[in-house]
Amino acid sequence: MAAELIVRLQGLTKVFGEGAGRVEALRGVSLDIDAGDFVAIMGPSGSGKSTCMNIVGCLDAPTGGHYLFRDVDVGALSQDQSALLRRHYLGFIFQGYNLLPRTSAVENVELPLIYRQVGAKDRRDLAMKALFDVGLKGWEHHKPNELSGGQQQRVATARAIVTEPALLLADEPTGNLDTARSHEIMELLTGLNRTKGITIVMVTHEPDMARYARRIVQFKDGLIEANDIVEKAA
Ligand code: ADP
Ligand code: MG
Repeated sequence: MAAELIVRLQGLTKVFGEGAGRVEALRGVSLDIDAGDFVAIMGPSGSGKSTCMNIVGCLDAPTGGHYLFRDVDVGALSQDQSALLRRHYLGFIFQGYNLLPRTSAVENVELPLIYRQVGAKDRRDLAMKALFDVGLKGWEHHKPNELSGGQQQRVATARAIVTEPALLLADEPTGNLDTARSHEIMELLTGLNRTKGITIVMVTHEPDMARYARRIVQFKDGLIEANDIVEKAA
């Protein structure tokens, strides 16, 4: 059976600025991602990785080309429709965690459920479950400044998965973590990919982290330079 496509990018271009400040961040990116896949995106700084992730995350629109999400042409959606797509199908993890500082772990994780208008009781139950799933049982009522960097990234991961997104986008999720903590986050993402079937697209510049993925897509100068299946040790 052919795998279902979740993301299809066709000839994406993105231009920022104009005149002397004009930057071609993407120069024709085409990429298919199967549902259930785990893709690592690598490449030098400035090669267009984050620009591409922002477009896939419906946080930005391309200058040219097409983005299909499960056969839906994202470029044809209204702002409200693309906000709904983001809320209902996508989860995000960033390098800087982006947690609300004076707000407990469980309240941070509840936030995306508020936007989905889930009631208070269900919200709390789902957030507690997500924190359990990322290994933070017992830490639910701690605030971010009472948690280590690795724990904060786990809270951010719980917040990203509490809505059970079809697609999880992670831009340098281990960028602020030491090696041991980075491997723990990668084990966590690998587990979520396997057990919940969440498709993951992750930007990383660390080859050791990219190897957790099934496929490595290499960006260079706004183009995809290579797209290879990761050889796993037996
Ligand atoms: P990467 O994530 O691979 O480091 P980016 O996608 O962030 O690369 O950036 C690609 C290019 O686009 C860079 O030259 C960057 O300076 C430029 N760029 C990215 N975002 C913007 C923006 N909002 N305005 C102007 N230029 C941008
Ligand atoms: Mg980047």
